[in-house]
Amino acid sequence: MQNLVELRAIAKRYGNTLALELSRLVIREGELYLLTGPNGSGKSTLLNILGLLLRPDRGEVFFAGEQVKWQGPLTRLRRQVTLLHQSPYLFRGSVADNVAYGLSLRGITGTSAQQKVAEALATVGLDGFQRRKNTELSGGEAQRVAMARALAVRPKLLLLDEPLANVDKESARVLEEVIAALPSNGTTVVMSSHDPDQGERLPCTPIRLQGGRIESPPGGEATFLCHQMPRPALQL
Ligand code: ADP
Repeated sequence: MQNLVELRAIAKRYGNTLALELSRLVIREGELYLLTGPNGSGKSTLLNILGLLLRPDRGEVFFAGEQVKWQGPLTRLRRQVTLLHQSPYLFRGSVADNVAYGLSLRGITGTSAQQKVAEALATVGLDGFQRRKNTELSGGEAQRVAMARALAVRPKLLLLDEPLANVDKESARVLEEVIAALPSNGTTVVMSSHDPDQGERLPCTPIRLQGGRIESPPGGEATFLCHQMPRPALQL
């Protein structure tokens, strides 16, 4: 499998705080990585670097074989990555407007956009939610809409920052199913979680951070699964 992202000799500090320091980390295409570690261990910092949203103080980042130069807007590379936060921001307006947002930035509008919006909503179990206002959604539904918005643009890399922390059980179940199926459908996933049992429910490769350093895998290249299970197919 190809390396989608490779980090080499990365360090990021905030003032005197060393947020992240790692000699090497490889994210391979078609994998689901589970990022764990206590609060403050550097998970969000790592996700933001992987998402090309945060430039490390030193080190090299390679994305799809290309070294990131950190010059100019990086739009071409950033469009291949989506970061979904724990409490995502939905714009005022309808669910359809929200899900179509990334598509419109990429020049996809009209019937084609409507179709992609409908498919993405169906994937997260929200068929027919297009006209709902964002103020009419539960927390779990809002997170599913945010996931649909992320999926609609078919990112190569989906970064999830504690996506299941604030959602109801049913939404968590649906989202776990969707997340588990993404790698075999062309989207590599790196997901952070506080839940110690998360690895039991997802066919994932673990990355554990401690004090800004990678505790496992040694050498930065994970080759074993948290939990062996078949990867379900997903219609997208
Ligand atoms: P996690 O996501 O695992 O909780 P973070 O990556 O958010 O960890 O933080 C790693 C370290 O960097 C922590 O010590 C945190 O306090 C510090 N940190 C993160 N963001 C900032 C910031 N914007 N300013 C100052 N310190 C920060």
